[in-house]
Parts: sequence; C-alpha cells; structure tokens
Amino acid sequence: MSHQNSESLYQRALELMPGGVNSPVRAFRGVGGTPIFFDSAEGAMLTDVDGNKYIDYVSSWGPMIRGFSNEEIVTAVIEQARKVMSVGAPTALEVDLAAAVVGRIPSMDKIRMVNSGTEATMSAIRLARGYTGRDKILKFQGCFHGHGDSLLVKAGSGVLTLGLPDSPGVPGDLAQHTLTAPFNDTESVDELFERWGDSIAGVIVEPIAGNMGCVLPEPGFLQHLRDVTLRYGSLLIFDEVMTGFRVSHGGAQELYGVNPDLTTLGKVIGGGMPVGAYGGTARIMDHVAPVGPVYQSGTLSGNPVAMASGLATIAGLNDEFYANLQTRTDQIVRGLRMLASDQGVAMHINDVCGMFGIFFTEQDRITSYDEVSRCSSETYSKFFHAMLDQGVYFAPSAYEVAFIGSQHSEDTVDATLAAAKSVFSTL
Ligand code: PLP
Repeated sequence: MSHQNSESLYQRALELMPGGVNSPVRAFRGVGGTPIFFDSAEGAMLTDVDGNKYIDYVSSWGPMIRGFSNEEIVTAVIEQARKVMSVGAPTALEVDLAAAVVGRIPSMDKIRMVNSGTEATMSAIRLARGYTGRDKILKFQGCFHGHGDSLLVKAGSGVLTLGLPDSPGVPGDLAQHTLTAPFNDTESVDELFERWGDSIAGVIVEPIAGNMGCVLPEPGFLQHLRDVTLRYGSLLIFDEVMTGFRVSHGGAQELYGVNPDLTTLGKVIGGGMPVGAYGGTARIMDHVAPVGPVYQSGTLSGNPVAMASGLATIAGLNDEFYANLQTRTDQIVRGLRMLASDQGVAMHINDVCGMFGIFFTEQDRITSYDEVSRCSSETYSKFFHAMLDQGVYFAPSAYEVAFIGSQHSEDTVDATLAAAKSVFSTL
C-alpha cells in the first residue's frame, strides 16, 4: 500500500500547522507513523489521497452514524446551501432541530445551539456557575469534555494520548476550581462533596466514558451522582456529545434512567457539520441571555446548513435503526472476542450500542482510568497499524472508541473480522 501522497502532504502540513494537523490525535502520535490524508468517503469506506480504501471505524469521531455521503443528508445540505448558507438571524430550521432534539430527550425543555462540543460544555459549565452562584465543578479522571479551560484537568482523549493531563495555559486560579474523582468511584465523590459541597456548581460526566476507550458506568453510579447533586443543590451535567443519539434515541440518560439538569450534545446532531448544543429544564436554561444574565453567543450558531444536516440525520434514527445498530455492534464485538480468545490474545472489550473500546490487557474488567492506564498501548499501536495495512481504519489512539453506524453491513463486519483474524495471529 503506497502512502506517498499522504507523506508529502504531511511534510507540507508540518511546515504550516502545529504537528501538521488541526486537532492533535489526527497526527498519529499515539500510534506512531505518519497520518493518512483522506480524499473522499462513501458508506463505510474511506479513500485516501493515494487511492487506498479502508473500512472506517472512526466515523469522524462519531457524527457519521448514517454513513459517509449519505444521499438524504447530502441532498439536504446542498439544497440548504443553495437557499442560504448563513444569515446570522433566526431561521425555521433551528426551531425544527430544537424540537426534534428536545422531543427525544425528556430532561430537556430548552436548548441552545452552538458550533462544537467544546462550546457546549464550556457554556454549560458557565451556566451551572451562573445559576448556582458557585465556582467549583467536579469532573472525572479520563473523561474528556473538549478543551475549555475548566475542563482540561485530568482529561481523556488527545490529552491522554499525548500525556498532557493538565495543559499549560490554564490559569492555576481557574484550575483550582476543578475537582476530580475517579470514574465510578462514589466514595471519592462523597468525600469531595462533604468537603466542598456548598461550593460545587455542578458535576459534569460522560455518562458512558468514551474518551479513555469505552468505560461503562457501574450500576448505581449515575443515580448516585443524581442524588448527591440534588442533596447539595449542585447541577448534574451529562456530557452526551458522544453518546447523544448514538447509544439510543434519548442518549445514555435514557439507557440508564437518570435525568440530568443539563445535557451537552454535538457530533450526531450535526451529521458531520460543526454543531454542538446544550439544554435542560426551562428554569435553568432561562438564565441564558437574552432572557437571563449568563452570556453566550455565536456568529454561526444555529447555522442553517448545519441545522439541515442535523435534521436530515436525526430523521433516519428510529427504533429499527437502533435495533440494527445493536445487532451490528454485537456481531463485531462477539467476533473480535472470539478471535482473540482463539488466538490467545489478551484483550478486553467494553461496548454499548454503536460504540466499543478495545483494551489489550489481562484484566477482565475495565471500569476506571487507572485500569485503562494498565492496558498495553504498544499492542494497540501494533493492532492499529496491522489493521491499517489490511485496509481497516481504527482510531489512531488506544484511548478512543470504535464507532458503528448503519454503513456497517454484515459483510463489512465480516471483512473486518477476517482482517482481525490475520492481525491477531501477529500480536
Ligand atoms: N465532550 C465529549 C464527550 C467529546 O467526546 C468531545 C469530543 O470528542 C467533546 C466534548 C468536544 O467536542 P468538539 O470536539 O466538538 O469540541
């Protein structure tokens, strides 16, 4: 497989952009080697600038749940772009997408559209602080909520991949207001609340952690967060940027039956265009300007083309869609587990509808960042490159998940498993 064009583009990119990329994990630092530059994509297949084809499990990090170049979504985007690309004033599409989202997530009465998941979580934190009049927030080790200053503390995703858990540039005075606890550790949460409870504006959590691989909440963990935040008058924020419209219609909150005060969304609700959103009860959301004093704005927020893309994406997400997604997820996860066990590869997979995380480890459960950090990222790198050589593109980092969508047919999964069979024999 030649990567000549990718390699020369990368050399040019290195001179023009830090690390040659616009987002750190893309640079392959977590797995070594040089990044692939892509040219086009259709269904589950990516084509790179050298004409190589790959089955994709990155899904643009989540949004492409209905496949690349999906006809309905592309048509909606093109038609809207012809009508009006951006107007910076209200349009019907914003109301329609707001209604579509709020209608599926019962904990949300009102929503504000923004342009990225980072903006959504930053704004939700500001709102929690403005609403409660408190400064501290509590987050969990290995959870990633984008790159907002308050949230770049013991974070997952790229900061974990690059070993930069606490980023320079975040003022110490601000970082001191971010408390952290191990994911799934209710005792640590209780201790922090006993000490700081009256100062904690909110708890932010990925209800299913997807930025240290896939780590599921233990039974009762999310409910515990609900109970303790209610007891202390803090807000509970579910960051469903990754899980929203992926693990079910109503996100992880529907799966686990726990309603947060605020929810952040992104990825799927933009269907591949830059979108984020935060929302919650009217009582809290009405603290946002222009109704309330908590300021937040955006030139391109609610952009009509992005709204059209999100609406067309969500329109195809019904019960049958999620049932198929679950079937396909089960097929690949079961297949990978079987192959690993047949070939004596020490591997553990955590999975939920539409996403899974592969850990190369002897451990039989992965429930926290500490356990994740004991897994072999070296074996993951070998797995990643060997799969790439076989034409399968997994995330270029051991700390990310694999995403499934309707583009992954039974045949696509069978082809992936055939590749994995020969790769596992080399690990
Ligand atoms: N929150 C979660 C759970 C995420 O997974 C991400 C990105 O991967 C973000 C927030 C940040 O979103 P964005 O990259 O759109 O800023």
